[in-house]
Amino acid sequence: MHEMGIANAVLDAVRVEALRFPGSHVCKVALRIGELAGVAPDSLSFCFEALVRGTEMEPLTLEIQYCPRRHQCRRCGCSFSAGIEGLPCPECGGVDSFFAGGDELEIAYLEVEDGARTAGT
Ligand SMILES: [Zn+2]
Repeated sequence: MHEMGIANAVLDAVRVEALRFPGSHVCKVALRIGELAGVAPDSLSFCFEALVRGTEMEPLTLEIQYCPRRHQCRRCGCSFSAGIEGLPCPECGGVDSFFAGGDELEIAYLEVEDGARTAGT
């Protein structure tokens, strides 16, 4: 399954990051997924939870930031969400726009919990 491979890659990245924070726990990972990335967020969440369950990585929350397809207007520079190709610019009505995003598939941020704090001193 496509999503399973992505979930695995994300967890690998989390493990690598965790090494930079010894004694701490990565508790949250946020992913930016574009409309055009061809990834089903629901399916990805499901795979992610299945992989994390029962491992030392628990608890680990996955947050998905869904990014719609965006275009940027060549005339006024405004960027807007463009579901349909050739949509005119909502600011100036210009039809000359270029692809400006919507195929993202990347980690937006990680949230690390300080191990010393949760251990209770
Ligand atoms: Zn415009």
